[in-house]
Amino acid sequence: MDAASPLGRIETFLTKLGAALAAADTEALKGLFAEDCYWRDLVAFTWNIKTMEGRDAIAAMAAETLAGVNPRNWAVEGEPSEAGGITEAWITFETDAVRGKGHVRLNAEGCWTLLTTAQELKGHEETKGATRDHGVTHGAFKDRETWAEARAREEKELGYTEHPYCVIIGGGQGGIGLGARLKRIGVPTIIVEKNDRPGDSWRKRYKSLCLHDPVWYDHLPYIPFPDHWPVFSPKDKLGDWLEYYTKVMELNYWSKTVCENARYDEAAGEWVVKVNRDGQDVTLRPKQLILATGMSAVPNVPSLPGMDSFTGDLHHSSKHPGPDQYAGKRAVVVGSNNSSHDICAALWEAGADVTMVQRSSTHIVKSDSLMDIAMGDLYSERAVANGIDHHTADLVFASLPYKVLPAVQVPVYEAIKERDADFYNRLEKAGFKLDWGDDNSGLFMKYLRRGSGYYIDVGASELICDGEVKLAHGQASEVTPTGLKLEDGTELPADVIVFATGYGSMNGWAAQLISQEVADKVGKVRGLGSATTKDPGPWEGEQRNMWKPTQQEALWFHGGNLHQSRHYSQFLAIQLKARMEGLPTPVYGLQEVHHLS
Ligand SMILES: Cc1cc2nc3c(=O)[nH]c(=O)nc-3n(C[C@H](O)[C@H](O)[C@H](O)COP(=O)(O)OP(=O)(O)OC[C@H]3O[C@@H](n4cnc5c(N)ncnc54)[C@H](O)[C@@H]3O)c2cc1C
Repeated sequence: MDAASPLGRIETFLTKLGAALAAADTEALKGLFAEDCYWRDLVAFTWNIKTMEGRDAIAAMAAETLAGVNPRNWAVEGEPSEAGGITEAWITFETDAVRGKGHVRLNAEGCWTLLTTAQELKGHEETKGATRDHGVTHGAFKDRETWAEARAREEKELGYTEHPYCVIIGGGQGGIGLGARLKRIGVPTIIVEKNDRPGDSWRKRYKSLCLHDPVWYDHLPYIPFPDHWPVFSPKDKLGDWLEYYTKVMELNYWSKTVCENARYDEAAGEWVVKVNRDGQDVTLRPKQLILATGMSAVPNVPSLPGMDSFTGDLHHSSKHPGPDQYAGKRAVVVGSNNSSHDICAALWEAGADVTMVQRSSTHIVKSDSLMDIAMGDLYSERAVANGIDHHTADLVFASLPYKVLPAVQVPVYEAIKERDADFYNRLEKAGFKLDWGDDNSGLFMKYLRRGSGYYIDVGASELICDGEVKLAHGQASEVTPTGLKLEDGTELPADVIVFATGYGSMNGWAAQLISQEVADKVGKVRGLGSATTKDPGPWEGEQRNMWKPTQQEALWFHGGNLHQSRHYSQFLAIQLKARMEGLPTPVYGLQEVHHLS
């Protein structure tokens, strides 16, 4: 083996890494890493989702966790590659508890980034492939129970005579995907959803909505969309897919069921969850409670003087019925992000006279450019042709620590700015205030940091350039009987006012369903602590409180876009299963609380 070849370099590194870890020699470990270095761990070492930044942080984590983890069998998977002074490779390893997969990048100094992920719990693997269920017991038996009878029995018993180990509140794509993961590893789970049918959380959104993310990014766990599926799923089509998925994955999905409240019974070590199932009160006592109630679910509606006096229709974007009844009417849409643009365009198409009210600057990216330049290498037909399916893409993505991501993203958006320079000039000429994120790192960082502040342009921006959708600027200050007043005194006459003003933090759900005390104990959910607009520091290095243990025992938050729900549900499911099986799960670096909401 040529030690200077990419394979040689990686193998030498892994041998030294394995030896340093086996000997718990933290000084030797530090010596393997470059000065600027990152170890991102998804559950394998930390029973947490945690990025250690710098040699000292890596050594501290190793010193505290190694005895219980006992990592070994480090090996290269596939062919390492080398470009731009970086050698990188996929790796495998195991610990006492898990089989793991990871990724490593070496630079001239040593290891720059290391990713370790728990892929499966030893002895508690998913049943699949060679270990799949037989489906039938051959032979002749009296009182044989068919599949349908067994399913009906499970549905009848679970939640009534047998308590589920997990209850997931919220049966959107997040709850459904996690439910499927838990089903596959034998964790009895009930998904509680207030809507009538799986998929309704999408069906109920405004009529014109199609996903802004492309199909390659959106697959659910286990059952990818078929390869004729449109690039951008219309919302009702996605709703139908979720309904079908729930059925074929045999999830215990309680629709028409509202979670009214939940409290943790410390003495019993379980939750007392009060739900109303289609008119009937039921108390569930799960060991683990997962809030998958959506981050786009607690609407921010400004409270303005005069709102009661308005003689037209006034609603938040989440309640917008669609444009049909507003043909020929005057519409004022407050806000200038995704929902506002979509709603303005649909109202214009229906023949309304539309004004968008922009308060602060917005980041705009044309969908084609985003798909091509920002996502194309990982999530596209081109990526698939290059052998990068969504499993690989998810791990490549996970292997880039959040701290280095902005620097990776800036050139992407510089390229987009150059490619669409004429478009941006026209938008600015029309008076639209643009930005590229606080540090010019663009859309994805805005999503991770604050979950808002952008529009993926699928047509509405041209209407603004052309003046077809009018623009007003400033802070809405008052609603009059006939319209909206802005702080500078401008009056916008309206028959309908839509507040496309976004959504609140997910721990608002903990306050609503559990208590303010628990919401405060857990703190803000999502965001990275980047000290940029709407994402206050200190730096966290990971999404706050998502998919990992929180300060409230046995309370978890799950959700995000389709990619995040798919990817992180795997690691959340493993954490839950380990607890069900009574495995030791010492959490390293439990989430600290710096902000309440
Ligand atoms: C206009 C718009 C466009 C979007 N476009 C995209 C996109 O293109 N791609 C993408 O990936 N994401 C998109 N998103 C983000 C989107 O919200 C999430 O991807 C998705 O909805 C998150 O799924 P979820 O399961 O976490 O939450 P949700 O879909 O919001 O599901 C939460 C569920 O919890 C239920 N619930 C809440 N409280 C209770 C209770 N007390 N009892 C019982 N049930 C309860 C709700 O009824 C709801 O069904 C968009 C969001 C909006 C608003």
